[in-house]
Order: sequence, then C-alpha cells, then structure tokens
Amino acid sequence: MGEQFDLFKYLNSSKKDVDTYRGDKSAGDKPGELQDIEEASTEIYLEKDIILQKAGEINSLEEWKKLCLGCQRCELRHGAKGVVFGEGNPEAEIMFVGEGPGAREDELGRPFVGTAGELLDRILSSAELSREIVFIGNVIKCRPPSNRTPSKEEIETCYPLLEKQIQLINPAILVCLGSVAAKTLIKPNFAITKERGTWYKKDGRMIMPTFHPAALLRDPTKKRPVWEDIKQVVKLNEEIS
Ligand code: SF4
Repeated sequence: MGEQFDLFKYLNSSKKDVDTYRGDKSAGDKPGELQDIEEASTEIYLEKDIILQKAGEINSLEEWKKLCLGCQRCELRHGAKGVVFGEGNPEAEIMFVGEGPGAREDELGRPFVGTAGELLDRILSSAELSREIVFIGNVIKCRPPSNRTPSKEEIETCYPLLEKQIQLINPAILVCLGSVAAKTLIKPNFAITKERGTWYKKDGRMIMPTFHPAALLRDPTKKRPVWEDIKQVVKLNEEIS
C-alpha cells in the first residue's frame, strides 16, 4: 500500500469545488426538466419489465451491460444522455458503489469522471488500486435532473439492475461511497457519519461504508476517516487473496 501521507498530500492539493460532483450547473441543467420527463411516452411503462424478465437468462456482465444500456424503466432515462453502467474489472474483488452520474459522467457515459472522480482515482492510486483492478458503479444509472438526489422510487426501480450487476461481478467486498449507497446496500436508516468505517456482511459479501469523495472536497476533516476505511478494505482484500 502507498505511503499514507502521500494520500493526504494528494487530497490537500485539490482546490476544486465539489459542486460539480453530481453535475455541472453550467452544463444546461434547468429546474423544470422533470416536467418534460413526465410527458414521456407510455412505451416506458410497456417496456418497464422486459429487462427484469430477461435477467434470469443473462450470465455475463457484457450481456447485462447491453441490456441495461437500453433501460427505460424510469423517467430518469429521458432526462439523461444515456445509461452509465459502470466500469472496471468484470471479475473485481472490490466494487465501489456511488450515488449516480453527474453531468460529466452523463456526457462521457463513465462513472466518477468529474472532480470527485479525480479524487477517487487518487485514493485508489494511493491504495495501489486502479479502475482496472476494481469495479466502479452507482446506485442510479441515469443522471437525475439538476443533479438532485434520486428519489426512493427511482432507487427501488434501478436497484435490480445493480443487484444483478453485483451478482455477475461477484466481488468479495463492496465499498459504499456515501449515504445513498449505504442506505441502499446496507439499511435504509444508515447514518453515514456515525456508522461508516464498520464492516457489514450481506449475501456473503463484506460491505464497507465510507464518505463519498465529494464529501471530502466539501469537508477536509473527512479525508483521514476515508483513508482509514480504505486501508481496512485493502487489508481485508489482501487477507482474502
Ligand atoms: S435510472 Fe436505472 S431504472 Fe431508471 S432508466 Fe436509468 S438504468 Fe433504467
């Protein structure tokens, strides 16, 4: 593992503002987009369950990705350029799960490529991990309008896609990046500030909840706890390996 203070040097060197992490207000987000989405075709609903009907037949991540990229199970798809499936090692032992795509992620179709994503890359690098070693995804695969927090209904609608994705990758360790991921994967009333940094076990996988990289950009005091959490992840991964 890399030297701890290298990470802090990296983290402290970042002067960028976190406001762009789930999107860029200058990229065209406008209040009211949702109203247009609500007028979306009824085809959305007619096709709503096709993906889940086919899920049982899918045995590879690539096949699942192809199916997910055509998903229209909820209105979010109509306010986004596309589905951001996630990326990384299809057989990763460690999978990071964030909240949802922002403007940059939506534009490029890749997870964590904005300011917070740059920080995540630095954290991975300091832990001698990389996007090629781990898998990075989100609870929600389409960008919410104006970068709002996804609703409970949207999370519930998208969750089966993530669940199948996790089953296919089959990681030993899940890392929840932020409150939304922890509430989705651990328990609905999860309190990220109080309960992060502790292992949870679910469906045979170990789950480590920690702060979202964006939270570190807003509050530098969260950098050390995140590093401690990541060290635990690396240690367990080494033990498992
Ligand atoms: S957010 Fe999820 S459920 Fe909704 S359209 Fe996108 S991929 Fe499908």
